[in-house]
Amino acid sequence: MERKEIAAAIEKYLAEKGLDRMDLKAVMFDMDGVLFDSMKNHARCWHETMAHFGLDLPEWEAYMHEGRTGAGTINLVSMRQRGHEATEEEIHNIYKYKSELFNQCPKAERMPGAYELLVKVKASGVVPMVVTGSGQVTLLDRLNRNFPDIFKKELMVTAFDVKYGKPNPEPYLMGMEKFRKAPQPPKGEGDLSAGSFIVVENAPLGVQAGVAAGVFTIAVNTGPLPDEALLSQGANLLFHSMQELCDEWEVLVGELKNL
Ligand code: CA
Repeated sequence: MERKEIAAAIEKYLAEKGLDRMDLKAVMFDMDGVLFDSMKNHARCWHETMAHFGLDLPEWEAYMHEGRTGAGTINLVSMRQRGHEATEEEIHNIYKYKSELFNQCPKAERMPGAYELLVKVKASGVVPMVVTGSGQVTLLDRLNRNFPDIFKKELMVTAFDVKYGKPNPEPYLMGMEKFRKAPQPPKGEGDLSAGSFIVVENAPLGVQAGVAAGVFTIAVNTGPLPDEALLSQGANLLFHSMQELCDEWEVLVGELKNL
């Protein structure tokens, strides 16, 4: 991506928000499909599970629903195909089947370029955070094992913290609130408004949440959806991989300081 494209995206955001400049303090990273290459497994398991129960959800479409609750996805497919929502029992059985299938999948790898980017973010004096809809109890261990010395527990938002979840802005609003309240990170000067943050997301509903929270939202299109699926949700910038975002990090930070 060209420097001037990045500059134009920042200028557009500043104009929309009526800000003079961005004072970047923290980057809020989504987890599945951003830090871990885990979406292929989720999409395949959703497709196979639905087929097992006589419902049709193509793998590519599972990416459109990434971030929805299990019940939300099941009801959407049920409504479309059968004209009514699934029963509580059906939801329970379908979601259980999907979870069991998913647990049999090999553990997802780190997304290429993700660790390198996190190291760069930290080195540039910006705090990396995780904001995920995932509720795995071993989440922090897994993050620390794969991304040693990067994340702090008090600066994470997970399924346990939120009521609504994405595409509601709640998780990202809570991430900003946690950053403001945390005793440790180097906050420096500034008002810590939305202009002090960046969101990195791979899913349409996640982009929607970041944008609704008023944060400069970077889409990384790591899945099979067309770029438009992410841009149409209001993404301020789009990269095609975490490696590409990693390669452009210095340019992005440079432009943030210049503008
Ligand atoms: Ca995601």
